[in-house]
Amino acid sequence: MIFDIEQFAGECVCGATHSLSTKEIIIESGAVARFDSLARRPELGDGAVVVCDDNTRFCAERIAEVLGGHMHTARFACLSAKDLHADEHAVALLDGLLPPDAGWLVAAGDGTIHDTTRFVAKERGIPFVAFPTAAAVDAYVSATSAMTWHGYKVTVPAAAPVAVIADTDVFSAAPYRLTASGFGEVFGKYTSLADWKIASAVTGEPYCERIASRIGEAADAVRAEMSGIRRGDRDGCERLMYTLLLSGTAMQLCGNSRPASGAEHHMSHLWELEVINPRLGALHGEKVGIGAVLILRRYKELLKSGALSGDRAPAVYEGLPTRLLRAKFGDHYGNIVVENTPDPLASVSRDSLHDALPEIREIVAGLPDPETLRKQMEDAGCKTTLREIGLGDGLLRDSLMLSPFVRARLTLQRLSGMLPSAGAAL
Ligand SMILES: [Zn+2]
Ligand SMILES: [Zn+2]
Repeated sequence: MIFDIEQFAGECVCGATHSLSTKEIIIESGAVARFDSLARRPELGDGAVVVCDDNTRFCAERIAEVLGGHMHTARFACLSAKDLHADEHAVALLDGLLPPDAGWLVAAGDGTIHDTTRFVAKERGIPFVAFPTAAAVDAYVSATSAMTWHGYKVTVPAAAPVAVIADTDVFSAAPYRLTASGFGEVFGKYTSLADWKIASAVTGEPYCERIASRIGEAADAVRAEMSGIRRGDRDGCERLMYTLLLSGTAMQLCGNSRPASGAEHHMSHLWELEVINPRLGALHGEKVGIGAVLILRRYKELLKSGALSGDRAPAVYEGLPTRLLRAKFGDHYGNIVVENTPDPLASVSRDSLHDALPEIREIVAGLPDPETLRKQMEDAGCKTTLREIGLGDGLLRDSLMLSPFVRARLTLQRLSGMLPSAGAAL
């Protein structure tokens, strides 16, 4: 499956000129052999170093073998998979392992290996190639790294891969838990795309229907093939990888993570801050999948309750709930205030929110039914409840209330603070 990325770049009907740094995306069986021709690309050249961890070293060895003709010696930077996270420790570790003459890097592994490699590649000003070993996250192709920096989760500018080589023989054979978490990451697109469109309806934020509809259709296709993928269907697994890479490509095309990250990701980010919960062992896609189910339920409830009806005027926004945020976020409070300066709600007028409500209702009505999706995910072996990742149901309220403040990004969940409450008569 050749991913025709050129079709998305350039001038678009949405009015934007979308640009892409990634030149080539290949998803196929035996794709590792493509490193032979890839190494001749003018952006690359000598001095490849393959970054991997203990679990993906076998892939790194195979890549180095293919690259053999282009490398003086096969070089690896193998990180220990134990307690490996995309943080300042992993960056220092990788920096220490890389030879000074490293000319380009290959990230052979999961999201953590990719986030760490792309960050170091950017710091060194050298290119990198992505070799995702599991269809688990969409960040392989993005131009930002999701890092935990001294305990605080940040999204930092990093290098986008020159190319992505996804070998079906490798990623379709990954532990199934990783593939199942990829479903969660994909279904998070339903809510992130809805949040994007809603924010655009309220504030006029740039929105690309072409990109959004392609991701939505790809997510639907994955949903239709879940049971086959669970049984090991390789074409279905390629479809899942395609959708993840499409989502990552969309982030590059839009210059930010807007198409791929909304209220469901904010829940995942909140849990990673560990302010209302202990450390979780859950995978990114597991948290996002559960976040998506909870946000779908919340948005459908907003619709059902009449909060989106427009019968009453939106409430006057009273600014950040600083007392609540200070009490709940503790040591992270300062970071939360910085993140929310300027406050994304401050620029939302009551009139513009009210005027957008008919469109918001239509968007929410078009979202998948949360219970049907949850059941499909459960049948496909996905985690779908807070309890399954070690969170009590009692954390639902705090998760919904606090997660919007983790990122300065307008979502319907963030806007819900301005939705009409009793007494706010039109
Ligand atoms: Zn994600
Ligand atoms: Zn566009």
